[in-house]
Amino acid sequence: MRDPRYDVLFEPVAIGPVTAKNRFYQVPHCSGMGYSKPQSLNRMREVNAEGGWAVVCTEFCSIHPSSLGKTPATLWDEGDVRVLGDLTDRVRAHGALAGVELWYGGISTPNHLTREVPLGPVSLPVWDGPLQTQAMDRSDIRALKRWHRDAALRAKRAGFEIIYVYAGHGYLPAQFLSPTINQRTDEYGGSFENRARLIRELLDETKEAVGDSCAVAFRFSVEDLNAEIGITHDGEGRDLVEYLAEVPDLWDVNLSNYAADVRSSRFVPEGAQENYVAFVKQVTTKPVVGVGRFTSPDTMVSQIKRGILDFIGAARPSIADPFLPKKIETGRIDEIRECIGCNICVWSNAHTEPLRCTQNATRGEEWRRHWHPEQFEPRHADESVLVIGAGPAGLEAARVLGERGYEVALAEATKAVGGRVSFESSLPGLSEWARVRDYRLSAIRSMPAVEIYLDSRLGSEQVLEFGFRHVCIATGSRWRTDGVGRSNSRAFLGWENQGVWAPDMISKSSKLRGICLVYDDDGYYMANVLAERLMQDGNQVIYVTSTDSIAPEASATLEQSRIQARIMSMGAEIITAHKLKSFDGRTASLECAYTGARIERECSMVVPVTGRHSNDSLYHQIMANEHHHKDAGISSVQRIGDCQAPGLIASAVFAGHRYARELGSPLVSVGRDRVILGRPR
Ligand code: ADP
Ligand code: SF4
Repeated sequence: MRDPRYDVLFEPVAIGPVTAKNRFYQVPHCSGMGYSKPQSLNRMREVNAEGGWAVVCTEFCSIHPSSLGKTPATLWDEGDVRVLGDLTDRVRAHGALAGVELWYGGISTPNHLTREVPLGPVSLPVWDGPLQTQAMDRSDIRALKRWHRDAALRAKRAGFEIIYVYAGHGYLPAQFLSPTINQRTDEYGGSFENRARLIRELLDETKEAVGDSCAVAFRFSVEDLNAEIGITHDGEGRDLVEYLAEVPDLWDVNLSNYAADVRSSRFVPEGAQENYVAFVKQVTTKPVVGVGRFTSPDTMVSQIKRGILDFIGAARPSIADPFLPKKIETGRIDEIRECIGCNICVWSNAHTEPLRCTQNATRGEEWRRHWHPEQFEPRHADESVLVIGAGPAGLEAARVLGERGYEVALAEATKAVGGRVSFESSLPGLSEWARVRDYRLSAIRSMPAVEIYLDSRLGSEQVLEFGFRHVCIATGSRWRTDGVGRSNSRAFLGWENQGVWAPDMISKSSKLRGICLVYDDDGYYMANVLAERLMQDGNQVIYVTSTDSIAPEASATLEQSRIQARIMSMGAEIITAHKLKSFDGRTASLECAYTGARIERECSMVVPVTGRHSNDSLYHQIMANEHHHKDAGISSVQRIGDCQAPGLIASAVFAGHRYARELGSPLVSVGRDRVILGRPR
């Protein structure tokens, strides 16, 4: 039964000519699939509709070949109408409205795939690549409006009921509005009204084309935190909302650019956009949707009751738990799989891979592996499973095995479950990551057939004695201290000296130790969160990277510049493009990655963050006794997660999930989205 406190979240809300059944709104978000993986994409969106979202949107959807970013959806022709018509059918089947975010990128995209000359309000270098846009003349603007109108009509034919004009995240309409970018001297440049003219025309013409039966939504970044566009919530961002207040049927508001909009939990908490978007509802009577990594139903209710938003917008929370609305509706708050704000979803999209999610191993796999986030095949036989190690891999394996009805024993060497997640979530900014452990622990506790045994470090003899049918080894990994990794294939001199610390030896409180050299050859978060911890505790840090900047891998999670700024502002000495070569307990020697020139730094402690060793000795001992397995009643032994190959927490959760899904029915092939042969007409 639903808690009546949350009733307000389930009120229907009219959006122009259509009505959303509740206030849960999956805003447009990238998927890494777009036009290239339509089967995967359409099924994924369908699962959100099934999970109770009243509105389910596409990602950015290119209206014309002259603007094509990385894997958007496309609405160029009738073929696209058919593909997206399948998406809207699936969404509508669950009583949800399908929305499409019509998109034109302007300066944002080099069009490498279509080789069309990119168009913009002015000629400027594109965001990514050594090319410039052609400045649009009046006939280009007329063509653009025609393309937009045609795409809106196609969207309507495809069955979309919410059609967007998109001036968010610095794309073309936002570039026209921008006082910094738009230096035109015609009626589309200069004054505020002139710069807003294209947006106004797109809205009017879209309403005129499809507004009889479709809602026309307007997505707008009211604040440009990075000052590239020059729009602020107390300046021209507010002016535009006042100017167009009643024109669109819905305001979808956020921040620009993406790195400002999609900030990770390391940098901002839930609801961090409120200060910027709160004014919008005071200016318009139209419904307003906004985002803020909302996972708490109480926070959601507060947003509605305090008049900040009409719809609870979500991208990441809907990825982590597509069934979030249903769980609130049916009083299963404890079962919500809360987003941890790690941005691995963003990372996968940046690598043009289907969405991956740390918390939800089924995301992106709904079609190609037939994984449903809430439904599981019953166990293949009445058999028992011993899972060894209660890190993210072991916890997820135990949870899903429990869902399938197996009898499971989860043995953990230490006094607490969580493995690396418990350690990592104790580091600065990563506390929300503990949700990976807590969600699974809470699920397992409600499963009578899954038992957890703490303080139980198992050896191979015990495993053979126990008589479990299946053994899953999830014993994790440990950071190596010899400095071997991407840049050094050999250990650095003196790695066995006192003063060399593995990352996982840095405890919650790293007392004053003097000058600490953190050597980052990993390029992601571990070295810099450790550096933060060390500096918070009063240590002086020399941050040495083998790469040209701190945390290049975090560019894909949109965190790189924030991480670099934080480490710089905390006062670390930063030395880039150097490899750690030796440490004698007092002095570290570093080699330039380009010239080989050496420099030295005095320090009392070195923390190499380079590579990890799998904890796979138990696996090898058990396999060395393979000839005894039959007598011991063991029919399968498998290692998973970091024990198999160290990786992301997301990889460990996926490995645990996959093991449990495939036990007794191994997947023979992973589906691939098929391209239909034929020439374009
Ligand atoms: P993963 O990311 O693959 O889940 P973790 O390193 O997070 O790996 O977790 C591995 C867990 O396995 C740790 O909690 C560790 O204490 C536990 N462990 C390691 N060796 C054994 C063992 N022999 N018996 C039981 N638990 C073990
Ligand atoms: Fe949230 Fe991380 Fe999943 Fe993205 S990958 S939805 S940030 S838990």
